[in-house]
Amino acid sequence: MTVPFFRSPWQAPASAALLGERFARILQSGHYILGANARDFEQALAHRLQRSGGVVALNSGTDALVLALRLLDLQPGDEVILPSYTFIACFEAVVRAGAVPVLCDSQADDFLASETEVSACISPRTRAVMAVPLFGDASAIPAIAAGCHRRGIPLIEDAAQALGARVRLEGQDWHAAGTLGDVATFSFYPTKTLGAPGDAGGLSSPHAAFIERAMSLRNHGLHQGSHAETGYNSRMGEFQAAALVHGLGRLDDWLDQRRHIAQRYLAGLAGLPGIALPRDHDGHAWNYFVLRCRQRDTLRAAMAQEGVDTRVYYSHTIHQQPAYVRHFPALELPNAQAHARQALALPIFAGMSDAEVEKVIQAVTRAARRSA
Ligand SMILES: *Cc1c(COP(=O)(O)O)cnc(C)c1O
Repeated sequence: MTVPFFRSPWQAPASAALLGERFARILQSGHYILGANARDFEQALAHRLQRSGGVVALNSGTDALVLALRLLDLQPGDEVILPSYTFIACFEAVVRAGAVPVLCDSQADDFLASETEVSACISPRTRAVMAVPLFGDASAIPAIAAGCHRRGIPLIEDAAQALGARVRLEGQDWHAAGTLGDVATFSFYPTKTLGAPGDAGGLSSPHAAFIERAMSLRNHGLHQGSHAETGYNSRMGEFQAAALVHGLGRLDDWLDQRRHIAQRYLAGLAGLPGIALPRDHDGHAWNYFVLRCRQRDTLRAAMAQEGVDTRVYYSHTIHQQPAYVRHFPALELPNAQAHARQALALPIFAGMSDAEVEKVIQAVTRAARRSA
């Protein structure tokens, strides 16, 4: 038996057949972009998030970040703080907005940048913070949101990996990840907690004016029949929207399955030499299960030998990527850099069998004992 890194729930024959029927209806309708399915999805997600401003259906999580920054009307020289240990799209969006990206470190024993690392980068030119609940863990966001609120700095929450995660401030109610900032962005890339069978994304905000403007920006700046400003083509297609409406109804089940697998990994891999397991915060959505190992590449190769596929998120910090390293010649972010050398993501997805989970545990255990 081999274990893939990921299998989409749409691959299951019953799901594939169901989507096939919905896709046939869309084909016959002739309405392929931003139609009834996209509107249904926007309403359903806004309802789930309890987002009064609303949700805007988009083509990708990357464009969601670009639009989110556009909504803030940044000027050249304005600084946006974001982690260096995150997906490259976060950084690209800041560059495309014409702002200055200021990269912060992560915590030593956790992948997330916390309020401590963010606040160390605040300057008089800081105009926004982009916080990333990486791998599905939103636990660091409330403190960052409180810091932004206190300083009057807008917060963008890149919840691409955190749809379904929840957080709680001391003594308060639970909040869904993606509801703490001025704008939250989502990706429905196939491997995310809610994955489409293709590219798709979205944006939410408590500010109705932001929602209205994002709806215009995603469609070339079209507003009431004329073009009010330079926009984009960031529209969601109907096939993706139809799949997402259906998927949203199954999301809680998929999240339960992810949590269950994560619990088995945490129990089955506890105490192995040379392996640091991710923290199990309440409300974690477990989009990815990422451990740390100094012998990461050896571990990865040993697991591949046994037929278990893994991924490295992320092999480089942003400031060490070939495209950008010359812009940050002296920047040292020791925790982020260590994470990039040590992080290894194990397979975790809804529909993973008990035998597959067990096989991953055995493969990690054997490899860790051998190299100890
Ligand atoms: C996936 C992802 C994105 C980009 O989303 P796409 O839909 O692939 O464009 C942005 N930020 C983070 C943290 C992501 O994981």
